[in-house]
Amino acid sequence: MSQAATNPIVELADVHLSFGPTEVLKGIDLQVARGETVSIIGPSGSGKSTILRCINALVTPQSGRITVNGARVDQMTSETDRIKLRQKIGIVFQQYNLFPHLTVIDNITLAPIRILGVDRSEAERHAKDLLARVRLSEKAQMYPGQLSGGQQQRVAIARALAMKPDLVLFDEVTSALDPETVGEVLAVIRDLVKEGMTSILVTHEMRFAEEISDVVVFTENGLIVDKGPPEHIFQKSANPRIRRFVNGLA
Ligand code: ADP
Ligand code: MG
Repeated sequence: MSQAATNPIVELADVHLSFGPTEVLKGIDLQVARGETVSIIGPSGSGKSTILRCINALVTPQSGRITVNGARVDQMTSETDRIKLRQKIGIVFQQYNLFPHLTVIDNITLAPIRILGVDRSEAERHAKDLLARVRLSEKAQMYPGQLSGGQQQRVAIARALAMKPDLVLFDEVTSALDPETVGEVLAVIRDLVKEGMTSILVTHEMRFAEEISDVVVFTENGLIVDKGPPEHIFQKSANPRIRRFVNGLA
């Protein structure tokens, strides 16, 4: 039995979700084990971001089960429970949304101080460690507007890690970046994955997904069309749609 089957940190079972009359997720099954890296690939509009939003309790499915760290996310009725859940799930978006009026280090320490009640000195010590991990130690006192897109995105990753999350969700975090800064952000994610951070990535970086993932999931039209180890999806897929997509032809 695979690790995911015995010890999933995230589990979606037959998740159906509609926005009004439009069914956007049509029965999603997904398991992610602790320490695993799962990439979700597929065409625009296929439901990738919605899957992440379900895991983070930003949307609630009409049916199916979602379990994160043993808690039934789909059954959470109180906003307090959802907020608690989100504190343990880092999320990084295409738009980094740093606070423009706060320095880099204050962006990173804000939530640990305000939400977790961590001492400022302890929060700053941790933030400095995180800045070193994302290779931005020298930028602690800068403002977001003084940084490149790739640097801002690395600050956003450090900010997510400051809450000591159990898992991190990355939603197309390099899609808005200049091509020359994409690599530095991917390098930071690669380090995290190697350190064993449980990660779910939505990405269009096919070579990167192939390199770092334990499991790759291909979504289309609200369904998981296929999933498996990277070579299964990228080299051996019998599905012509997947072959075209991963070869950049559609
Ligand atoms: P992806 O991330 O794969 O591009 P999304 O999960 O963002 O896809 O969206 C899947 C589908 O759901 C799309 O057709 C999108 O237009 C629709 N959708 C997403 N969010 C909403 C919403 N809040 N209200 C209505 N439709 C939505
Ligand atoms: Mg999306």
